[in-house]
Amino acid sequence: RMSKTVGNYTLVEKLGQGSYATVYKAHHKTNGGSFAVKVISKEKLGSAKLQANLEQEISIMKEITHENVVRLFGTFTSKNNIYLVLEFCGGGDLQLYIRKHKRLDETVARRFLIQLARGLQFLHSKNIIHRDIKPQNLLLSEFSPSAVIKFADFGFAKYLNEAALAQTPCGTPLYMAPEIFEYKEYDAKADVWSIGCVLFEMCTGEPPFRGSNHRELYQSIRSQSLRLPSGVSLSPEVSSILQKLLELVPQRRASLDMLCRVTESMDAQMKQQEQQGQG
Ligand code: ADP
Ligand code: MG
Repeated sequence: RMSKTVGNYTLVEKLGQGSYATVYKAHHKTNGGSFAVKVISKEKLGSAKLQANLEQEISIMKEITHENVVRLFGTFTSKNNIYLVLEFCGGGDLQLYIRKHKRLDETVARRFLIQLARGLQFLHSKNIIHRDIKPQNLLLSEFSPSAVIKFADFGFAKYLNEAALAQTPCGTPLYMAPEIFEYKEYDAKADVWSIGCVLFEMCTGEPPFRGSNHRELYQSIRSQSLRLPSGVSLSPEVSSILQKLLELVPQRRASLDMLCRVTESMDAQMKQQEQQGQG
């Protein structure tokens, strides 16, 4: 255990470490509230690109308030570091949660999926794509199956480039290349793919594709049909949505709208079952 003070916060324990940041649980010195403080050393921000990523992370997170996205309350700096004051998620990240349980019951996986679809729909409605969705970057409000799940780590996130489309009303789109129309849609579909990988891992305890380097992983994605670890079986409903999310060709992959339709109907079904269980 440690106790160090930065700004108005007392850092009490380390919560996690990423490639360029360390995150601590913190208490506000005067009001006692719990927060997570993400510390980025200026030294590690050497390159202009990392600096730009951090600025993007801050400006994107500042803009969004949603139940399924980790809140950013503010930032401050010291001589050596930059600090992000974040909503504290007491359940830790989804990777830890999956490891502790080996794999999640389908009901729990569905409950998380429903929330992920809502969070992602909100992000995309603000023209934000996350681009680094994985279990370590999804946080739980508490360590329990009824936790609220939240998108975190917007270090690779970006605004969809709408410049080309925004210009169309004053010009004519008649001569515009199809990839300009499609660009936005394909970018957004990369997040949908990642949600498919996360769903697979929640249900089976393992990521869907493996490889010891980029090339091997890519080959495994291209060649492998989805294989479930032995002893794991999925409902037809979840298998079917997995197939659609983990579709190689983006044109054929489920859209976010489609995912949301599926998850909202799952939600309605679960609520109905709960009511019947009580009645
Ligand atoms: P990096 O950008 O370096 O990957 P992250 O923002 O992903 O940093 O944080 C690293 C880890 O710290 C996460 O995987 C998670 O385990 C933990 N963590 C981050 N933010 C919080 C938070 N708000 N509440 C609880 N734990 C957190
Ligand atoms: Mg991370």
